[in-house]
Amino acid sequence: MFIAMKPHATAAEYEAVVEKIRALGLTPHPITGIERKVVAVIGHTSGLDPEDLFGSMPGVAEALRVSQPFKLVSREVKEEDTVVDVGGVPLGGKAIAVMAGPCSVESREQILEAAHAVKAAGATFLRGGAFKPRTSPYEFQGLREEGLKLLAEAREATGLKVVTEVKDTETLPMVAEYADVLQVGARNMQNYSLLERLGTVAKPVLLKRGLSATIKEWLMAAEYIVAKGNPRVALCERGIRTFETMTRNTLDINAVPVLKALTHLPVVVDPSHGIGLRQHVPAIARAGVAAGADALIIEVHPHPEKALSDGHQSLTPAEFGELMRQVRVIAGAVGRSVL
Ligand code: PEP
Ligand code: MN
Repeated sequence: MFIAMKPHATAAEYEAVVEKIRALGLTPHPITGIERKVVAVIGHTSGLDPEDLFGSMPGVAEALRVSQPFKLVSREVKEEDTVVDVGGVPLGGKAIAVMAGPCSVESREQILEAAHAVKAAGATFLRGGAFKPRTSPYEFQGLREEGLKLLAEAREATGLKVVTEVKDTETLPMVAEYADVLQVGARNMQNYSLLERLGTVAKPVLLKRGLSATIKEWLMAAEYIVAKGNPRVALCERGIRTFETMTRNTLDINAVPVLKALTHLPVVVDPSHGIGLRQHVPAIARAGVAAGADALIIEVHPHPEKALSDGHQSLTPAEFGELMRQVRVIAGAVGRSVL
């Protein structure tokens, strides 16, 4: 359930509500970043009547049950879009952010060349994996801390914010030291120990959709992070597994408007993993923006034919530049701009 205070409710009235929540053995969870004060009530509330308990308390505007199983991330509790602040750069809101870079950090030359190229084309975030969750244990696993250091160097050189994957709880403190946004990969979407730990970290999280996860399961995974205290979460649709084999995955374009209705969190589209074929990545990127995505994350490699991972789905810098021009046009057509 959640309790919304009246616009002019006093601090004492709000405190009385919080105290009552605690007295019931439940946990108050204030919702931040909105005009009216709202507090979500976490715990076993099934037998309780919100209106009965809180409706007549001074300063209370309404006390309602949240119909969805996800609470803190739901639009019911917070109507306004969340804008995740990434060190001064907004993720979410009217302006669409573009994240771009190679699948993996491979060398100093490669990541610096990629960073300068995507920056020149208009990206605001640099992506690149240093810890790679590969399907085969014999494939390139990433440069690990060396890769993180190279990402930090590329950030210094370009001013781009760094998005990189965190694979497990052991390496989380190290990755969090270098990253501006912590990416949770599709294979880890339901790694609840990792999600809980991410709830205690002061860095934004990009939560990718699991290979076969429903939208509800995905939102429940986001709820884990927010419930543990980190409200800075963005959701990334990266394609799901279907019967289709002509493409790597099937980008669930439906998820974009459905998420925008169900949750206040920013929605990111990853057309690269979503279709897995370089020649079709621009079409799916354009579709993502048209459908209402708040950001794109796109694999770009200065020399895709030499890439150690995902070269077949990586755009060249020239292709990325052309896509950025198209994205600006489509963003304008749907009342958005590009950051
Ligand atoms: C990636 O972004 O390179 C990646 C491994 O993505 P996903 O977790 O979506 O497969
Ligand atoms: Mn990849």
